[in-house]
Amino acid sequence: MSHLDPEVAALLAMGEQPSDADRRHLDACADCRAEVDSFGRAVLAGRASGAGEPLLTPPDRVWESIRSELSLSTPMLDDGGQDDADSAPASVGASRGSRSHLASRRRRVSRRPVFFVLAGAAVAVVAIVAGVWASGGIVPKADVISEARLDGLPGWSGAGGEALLERVDGHDRVVIDLAASVPDDGYREVWLLTADASDLVSLGTLDGSTGTFDVPDAVDLSRFTVVDISQEDVDGDPGHSGDSIVRGTLSPP
Ligand SMILES: [Zn+2]
Repeated sequence: MSHLDPEVAALLAMGEQPSDADRRHLDACADCRAEVDSFGRAVLAGRASGAGEPLLTPPDRVWESIRSELSLSTPMLDDGGQDDADSAPASVGASRGSRSHLASRRRRVSRRPVFFVLAGAAVAVVAIVAGVWASGGIVPKADVISEARLDGLPGWSGAGGEALLERVDGHDRVVIDLAASVPDDGYREVWLLTADASDLVSLGTLDGSTGTFDVPDAVDLSRFTVVDISQEDVDGDPGHSGDSIVRGTLSPP
């Protein structure tokens, strides 16, 4: 004995008259009666929320809207090929009340939670990405233009470090990593020098052993190729103290 198609059970629950064969099966099969009953409860629930209107059959515009939505959503939410004949968009346009109509409608209803879960997940991903971006977790890519090994100068034995010249978002910056003893007073200052040390420009003070310094756009990096870190006294003199800790020449990596 084969049971009623679920689509048929749904149709019967909506008030269609069963065929003689279906009626005979229903009389004999408690399972299928239960299924029709459960569909019937769903139909009643739907009618109860319909402001008291007796919706014996859905108006044409309901089917039209379901059909138009299905033709958009069916390919995206394909359930992997089973019941292809029923879920194919072409069959959705079959005559009203046909099995494929009901099948498509039921499938659509059953997929709604999946769709909303997917939509919710997409919203969550967008929110996370936006949040990470806003908090600076995603930074523009830095291209290393050149780098320098920083060697200790006389009087600063054991000092050393590394400098990277990076270009980020069209601007240059120098990233410093310095290892050197720290005097009790004074501060460290980062400089760019020309190769012959005839000209120099300050990039700023170095707090601690690492730092990142924006290079002013006016600085010609083809001339200022030497990175120098000096020990400075708090003496109000903005010039280089002459006491260089480390120095190194930038060259392509
Ligand atoms: Zn049955």
